[in-house]
Amino acid sequence: DLPSIPSVQAIKKENPASRRRSNCVKEIEKLEKNRKERRMRAQELLQQKQTDPDADNPNYDTLMMIREFQADLEYRPISNDDVIEDHQITVCVRKRPLNKKESNRKELDVVTVPNKDNVLVHEPKTKVDLTKYLDNQNFRFDYSFDENSTNEMVYRYTAKPLVETIFDRGMATCFAYGQTGSGKTHTMGGDFAARGQQDCSKGIYALAARDVFKFMSRPEFNKDIIVCCSFFEIYSGKVFDLLNKKIKLRVLEDGKQQVQVVGLQEAQVHNVDDVLSLIQHGNAVRTSGQTSANQHSSRSHAVFQIILRKKISKKLHGKFSLIDLAGNERGKDTHSANRQTRMEGAEINKSLLALKECIRSLGNKGAHVPFRASKLTQVLRDSFIGDKAKTCMIATISPGMQSCEHLLISLLSVVRVKELGPGDPMAP
Ligand code: ADP
Ligand code: MG
Repeated sequence: DLPSIPSVQAIKKENPASRRRSNCVKEIEKLEKNRKERRMRAQELLQQKQTDPDADNPNYDTLMMIREFQADLEYRPISNDDVIEDHQITVCVRKRPLNKKESNRKELDVVTVPNKDNVLVHEPKTKVDLTKYLDNQNFRFDYSFDENSTNEMVYRYTAKPLVETIFDRGMATCFAYGQTGSGKTHTMGGDFAARGQQDCSKGIYALAARDVFKFMSRPEFNKDIIVCCSFFEIYSGKVFDLLNKKIKLRVLEDGKQQVQVVGLQEAQVHNVDDVLSLIQHGNAVRTSGQTSANQHSSRSHAVFQIILRKKISKKLHGKFSLIDLAGNERGKDTHSANRQTRMEGAEINKSLLALKECIRSLGNKGAHVPFRASKLTQVLRDSFIGDKAKTCMIATISPGMQSCEHLLISLLSVVRVKELGPGDPMAP
């Protein structure tokens, strides 16, 4: 018997050299295919660019990367149909749109809010070989609001549920936290309509007041409760009464740790219009004699309170504190040559840090509440103790690429106020 002669195919199969060759051919084919695809993609992009109104953007590559990333996301913004959850601490984010100035200088919007739980920041980065890429970071919140959300929508999920809390003998607080220019005053105080006039009927202060009077129309409350308001400012660790000629007030703590702002004006109000005129008056007092309204307000906390008292005894029934915080951009003050500026900056840092600690302790039964760490938390002490205390933090953000680094730091620190776990922007 002669040994059978193996076929050429079989020999090729056996022969490692020829296998290597064929692998090599495959590799080359693959590379060729990739190259063709890349060329086609580049051609497509070029065509796209020719018709794209944003083509002259100096950061066009980054813009395209962001768009490509967004194309894979399912966009489902928060709407009136979402569930209003009951939390003791609510932490949420509101993104404002790019403003005219930013759009004019072609600044990129690096923030995407795909749905009610997630906020994505697209951070442009460059590799060592100079290729550009995006570092997409995701943050999860109780609620997130995109640039199309109205004050009414933000209110619905943040401060509105807390109105019931104060009628239920609780203490409620709602904070707007963020960089100067990110929309704190727009959210709390109201829309800035044309000519820079603020329409305070559309801010959270007024929307909360509207609902307080809805509750008050019920006989059980109308019979023995009155509504009062106070409005003050904390500037460099000092308290000033905005309803009483901005006089400086003292804060005292008695032996039982009860904190009192001595002489703080409380004006009784009977309807929303009363509240609106108080807000207008307070705002005017706040900024009078200031060269720039925003420069001053960015360095002070404004506290607007709606207080429910028993008609006869005037005993406290419940209190809602709505706070427009000082800007959180303070790091740069440490380099300032001006001692006053540095001191102010340090004071703001201290109070924002103390505030976050106090909110955290609220979620931790039996935890120590470090309220003495700042004037702000001292004045709000009652709001951080007891089962009936509820709080809500609205972090406002500017979406421009210029503020990207600050944005990431800020979001990270807000996320830490409450452990919400990792987010997933692709989740339905
Ligand atoms: P902050 O109080 O945080 O310094 P502002 O509330 O004064 O910021 O907002 C700065 C500017 O941006 C204002 O002109 C305001 O009208 C505008 N703005 C803020 N948030 C929004 C928003 N959600 N939609 C439209 N414009 C906004
Ligand atoms: Mg402001």
